[in-house]
Amino acid sequence: LYGPGRPNSKGANLNIRSQYQPLMDAMATHMDTVYEARPLLAFDVASDPAQTHEVTAPYDRRQRVGTVLWTTKTQAEQALDAAWAAFPRWEATPVGERADILRRFADLMEANMAELMALCSREGGKLLTDGVDEIREAVDFCRYYAVRAEELFAEPTRLPGPTGESNELMMGGKGVFAAISPWNFPVAIFCGQMVATAVAGNTVLAKPAEQTSIVAHRVVELLREAGMPRDVVQLLPGDGPTVGSVLTSDPRVTGVVFTGGTDTAQVINRALANRENAALPTLVAETGGMNAMIVDSTALPEQVVADVIHSAFQSAGQRCSALRVLYLQDDVADRVIQILEGAMAELHVGDPRDLGTDVGPVIDEDARRGLQAHIDRLKGEGRLLAETRLDPAHTAEGTFIAPSAFQIDGIDALEREQFGPVLHIVRYKAQDLDRVIESINGRGYGLTFGVHSRNESFAEEIAQKIRVGNVYVNRNIIGAVVGVQPFGGQGFSGTGPKAGGPHYLLRFATEKTVTINT
Ligand code: GLU
Repeated sequence: LYGPGRPNSKGANLNIRSQYQPLMDAMATHMDTVYEARPLLAFDVASDPAQTHEVTAPYDRRQRVGTVLWTTKTQAEQALDAAWAAFPRWEATPVGERADILRRFADLMEANMAELMALCSREGGKLLTDGVDEIREAVDFCRYYAVRAEELFAEPTRLPGPTGESNELMMGGKGVFAAISPWNFPVAIFCGQMVATAVAGNTVLAKPAEQTSIVAHRVVELLREAGMPRDVVQLLPGDGPTVGSVLTSDPRVTGVVFTGGTDTAQVINRALANRENAALPTLVAETGGMNAMIVDSTALPEQVVADVIHSAFQSAGQRCSALRVLYLQDDVADRVIQILEGAMAELHVGDPRDLGTDVGPVIDEDARRGLQAHIDRLKGEGRLLAETRLDPAHTAEGTFIAPSAFQIDGIDALEREQFGPVLHIVRYKAQDLDRVIESINGRGYGLTFGVHSRNESFAEEIAQKIRVGNVYVNRNIIGAVVGVQPFGGQGFSGTGPKAGGPHYLLRFATEKTVTINT
């Protein structure tokens, strides 16, 4: 779609060993490298053992991935000085040159796909299937935004006016953007934020998630190799209290693009609002979801279960888009739950580097503990419907959570998003459907939503009524494709605009009209 590479091909059967053997062989050569990641700033940074943090693999904490040198507060401030100084020069750089850097960067990511996938697996616990999707999405973002930027920024738009007057609308950058990205898409979302803000003419301070700074470092090395100037995009690994607080308190930061939890987005929003003498900021936040799927009595139970397994448990449920609450109409509930139970018993939880694994680890011990507490509470209430067995031979050394499904009374029973492989099931009666939709809308999140029904008008009516960003009918609800299903929600789920969509770059741009009396 957007260049020489193929668009993101979701749903390919990746378990065909022969097809993927060359990629797996190439990945194997990167499995033992011990990395040393560091801030990549406009200036060089000295090593400092006190600022150096060890990174180990989530599937086996005995395996080292490398070390990360965290950015200090002073370095973050100096990086901001450099970004501020670089902005006018970068904004004046022709958009074609900016877009060409993105295209070269996409080519370099494709050429280094095996190493990036190996790092996604070692640092983020990603399966091979997830790794392929991840890199393809990052590449798609680059090529898509390169095309969109040229369409929007290359030439001013001529506007109508009376005789003797010319009117033009021209687009520019806004200034310095902070890009704060999550660990669950450490290449795709990290790149998407970085390249969108930069190609629109802004300079960028990118703070990767603490858990996935090594792959972010490798990605920014490739971005530099593609020609991105050192002072235009800088990488600031580190923690929220140190790096994040510089980025959200300095009045020179024009905007923040953030993906992560709703609570953190609210903290950032307040910090930006509290700055003295700061221009009104731009906040683009893509946050959590409490994503539901409604299944009526005409749906095909086997297809429902395949899509539910995919939506709730792929990536160990660690996607904002993942299915959390499944509403089953009474007449089909027993049948769907029975098939689901069988399918969950077949899932293999374990090492993400093994092609036979269906569900890898969760990101870290904090995540594991939080999910386990939620699971224990629901089990204590006698709500367990189905659970996958964990085999200690494959899971003892890492942070694993067995996929599970629980019966609950409604979406309101969930206090917060559970970011892992936990599915909640609600039975509903046909006459209660309006109340079900009201409660999903009333909960206030609005990211993804699914409906399974062979009654077309039923599916269309629900799709109309539901207030979310992405609706999927008769399929799974994850894996939005750049330029095909622009991704992002509303309410507690985010501010918009949608990533990978035609309007995304506009939020990072200024618009100026010039009127000339001729
Ligand atoms: N875009 C991803 C999807 O459609 C989810 C992104 C996220 O988890 O933040 O599955």
